[in-house]
Amino acid sequence: MRTLTMKFGGASVGTTTALTQVLSIVLQEHERWDHLLLVVSALDGVTDALIEAAQLAHLSNRRGYRRIVATLRTRHLSLVEQLPLGTSERNALQADIDRLLFDMLDVCQTMADTPGGSSIPAMFDKIIGVGERLAARIVAALLRQNNLRGVAIDATDLIVTDKVFGNASPDMALTRQRITQNLLPMLTRSIIPVVTGFIGATPEGQPTTLGRGGSDYTASILAVSANADEVWMWADVDGMMTADPQEVPEARTIPLLSYDEVAELAYFGARILHARMIGPLREHHIPLWIKNVFKPRETGTLIQDVNLDGAQTLKAVTSISGLGLGAPYSGPLTHISAMIDEAMFSATGSHADVMISAQSSARSLVSFIIPTSAGPEAVRATRTALEKRLQAEVSDTLWTIQFVTIVTTIGANLDELTGLIAGIFQALGGIRILGIAQGPSRCSLSVIIDPKDTERALFQIHDMLINND
Ligand code: ASP
Ligand code: MG
Repeated sequence: MRTLTMKFGGASVGTTTALTQVLSIVLQEHERWDHLLLVVSALDGVTDALIEAAQLAHLSNRRGYRRIVATLRTRHLSLVEQLPLGTSERNALQADIDRLLFDMLDVCQTMADTPGGSSIPAMFDKIIGVGERLAARIVAALLRQNNLRGVAIDATDLIVTDKVFGNASPDMALTRQRITQNLLPMLTRSIIPVVTGFIGATPEGQPTTLGRGGSDYTASILAVSANADEVWMWADVDGMMTADPQEVPEARTIPLLSYDEVAELAYFGARILHARMIGPLREHHIPLWIKNVFKPRETGTLIQDVNLDGAQTLKAVTSISGLGLGAPYSGPLTHISAMIDEAMFSATGSHADVMISAQSSARSLVSFIIPTSAGPEAVRATRTALEKRLQAEVSDTLWTIQFVTIVTTIGANLDELTGLIAGIFQALGGIRILGIAQGPSRCSLSVIIDPKDTERALFQIHDMLINND
């Protein structure tokens, strides 16, 4: 029995044109696989709008969040209006949309009434997960209309997580149990579950979310727990690219990557994948494809166990924003690391992850990335939070903070290919390098530079990468 998990991103469920593509892909793969398991994101832009609504509710701005909810209602209802659905399917769907948004409005109301409430993060997650619940119902109805047994499933009943609202992690043992009990029997009855991405719930049933872009992670959690054979992620780009095409127009699709390479890529700024989704797939050797929903015949990118012995190519270059802390001091950095973590958590809800540090006889530099998933304001917010803490706590050492960019080049066996490393540094000619880290994953090299040099660094390294091919 072969099972395929497919995840459809926000751009592939946001319009009737895209939904028509989704339908034809599902119809086709339904013929080829024994079981299909689908995961959907919210319509594109919806999660951003929900976050804004939650923030306005928190500020007791009733008019503000009501306006957003009204706009969301119109958008979903008019999408349903345009879909080729029968009357009863359409009426039921419209009623569902109204009920979900009405309940969500209720949560906003409670939040607006109790601005200082301690359960704010929990209420946020209740509000911002509604986008996926709406989208799953729309896709399931469309499948049923086309004689497929689509059923919308809320992942709150399947994915059991910890209580880290906004960035929860799954309890894989409990999740597997629930999936075996509740989801696998559906597959045997030829049902196509359409599961909400992004959301889960604590063991007590409180809704949580898995971090921005979390639907990817949902797909990998489900695939592992349901013993799926492959995961296909449908996006509105051709696959993983050699660079962000918005920054480097010459960027190309990468046909094949190892799990390690793609994990570094996702971590260091490629926005297509949720960084935490790779681990479970690597552990269970489940191949992952990334494909363009508007060009389903093109191959896209394949990620799987690859024998990289002797491989000599650079695959991609990424950039990500970060903060660098410098001080005329050399010695243990434990205290400063803890402070960075606290500041980042208070400002963004994410913990500080990998930090790149370098010390000389009399100076230190600590640099850390701000994940793109933390949102566009996160870099500034973290800097402010850090400045406050530094002033309050470490008055005797003059730590200074600066914005930095971390530019990472990815390719297998980079640590052995000294010629390529020399090439990267040559490509960076003329750009001041503030720090360097060669990844222990053996497939990445990061340089810390001033943000003003980002474009030049990306172009120059990408040029070299393309010409080396
Ligand atoms: N809708 C959620 C977000 O925008 C999750 C996802 O799209 O993967 O972050
Ligand atoms: Mg995404």
